Amino acid sequence: TYIVNDACIACKYTDCVEVCPVDCFYEGENMLVIHPDECIDCGVCEPECPADAIRPDTEPDMEKWVEFNRKYSELW
Ligand code: SF4
Repeated sequence: TYIVNDACIACKYTDCVEVCPVDCFYEGENMLVIHPDECIDCGVCEPECPADAIRPDTEPDMEKWVEFNRKYSELW
């Protein structure tokens, strides 16, 4: 899965949302998140992000970001 990290805060350039084939981005007041169970891991959103805020969960120490994205995608 892909997740959004804090580099998104106050960016919210929403081209990632436009390209996602399964519509799994959720928008909060100051950032976006991805629902980790809905993301199909296609990767098309990653190059669209000018803030480099969308990362694959295969990078080190991503657990807290996966949980953050899950929590807020269910709240928003
Ligand atoms: Fe959507 Fe694909 Fe990005 Fe997952 S990797 S959030 S499915 S565009």
